[in-house]
Amino acid sequence: MSKVEQNIPINKGNYSMDTPEREALFEKYRGQGWEEEYKEYRANWTKYAKEKIVSDYPLLVDIELATICNLHCPMCYTITEEFACHVHRGVMDFELFKKIIDEIAGKVPAIRLSLRGEPTLNPNFIKCIHYAKQAGIKEVSSLTNGSTLTPEFMEKMMLAGLDWLTVSIDGINEEYEKVRVPLKFADTVEKLKTFKELKEKYEVHRPVIKAQGIWPSVKPHVEEYYHTLAPITDLVAFNPLIDYLDNDTDIVYDEDFGCPQLYQRLVIGEDGKVMACSNDENGRMCMGDVKTQSIHEIWHGEPLTKMREAHAKMGGFKDLELCKLCYLPRKTEDSETSSVDGREFIIRNYVGRTQEIGK
Ligand code: SF4
Repeated sequence: MSKVEQNIPINKGNYSMDTPEREALFEKYRGQGWEEEYKEYRANWTKYAKEKIVSDYPLLVDIELATICNLHCPMCYTITEEFACHVHRGVMDFELFKKIIDEIAGKVPAIRLSLRGEPTLNPNFIKCIHYAKQAGIKEVSSLTNGSTLTPEFMEKMMLAGLDWLTVSIDGINEEYEKVRVPLKFADTVEKLKTFKELKEKYEVHRPVIKAQGIWPSVKPHVEEYYHTLAPITDLVAFNPLIDYLDNDTDIVYDEDFGCPQLYQRLVIGEDGKVMACSNDENGRMCMGDVKTQSIHEIWHGEPLTKMREAHAKMGGFKDLELCKLCYLPRKTEDSETSSVDGREFIIRNYVGRTQEIGK
């Protein structure tokens, strides 16, 4: 594979607005109890991508527990016609989940139980966490819209061994309630308070809780957003709005872009089909099927190898329709800054991308 110098961004599109001290603590808690392996895992996250190393197994496997969702947010691709046409709406079967874990336990350090839908709607959500942790997966994480977080459910998640939970919180008060209909901001804050109390009661640091909001919703009240959420979470972060709805036409690219994901993670849909990456939300490019193939076979198989080869060529991502629509190769600009308590941070927005929700 060619070793041309490319720009391979790591963790693009997701930015902390937190203090260095809290960021360090978040990292520490994530790695507590498996410090050395954790350090190696994080180092390889960058190394494999930058050096284009195809490891024996991916570092992270995304296992989508549900494609269904109970909300209808205006900026989400699950509300598009294309998604409705192409993506089966359902929840992952537990036997399929077990098959995946049985193969990757001891070989893959981390799994993420979320992708396109609301994972906690899978009736086996807790059972899946428990099964994965018992099997020895070091880090089990998930993302939720927060709607299902009752005290009992949060306690079960924690006792099952969930390591990291990201909660989508798009702004405060009316900003939040405009996007996350019919959820109420005050209720979500209460839930996070309860989660913090539960962790204190059990004297544990995990799951670490990250609050994450889309920038246009956070922007009107940045300080208040941070000061409301920081005391009840471990990290507060935001992401500029991406073109989820495929509305943009004149896209400006980073011409020397190469994709990191193809060396980091494997993404399995609710139906067992493997996607090209976490941004193939309509399942346009199928890399294999875990119902009939092993993870190892798919990770080293022809479709993914071809994707890697395309990306290894300078500008090769443009040969793939999927990648031309993705936010990762898009050029960003540092035209906007914001601050909390005088701590300044840059909003790395995509060139030409409106920051208006639903557009
Ligand atoms: S769509 Fe292409 S560029 Fe974007 S994450 Fe997937 S493989 Fe990478």
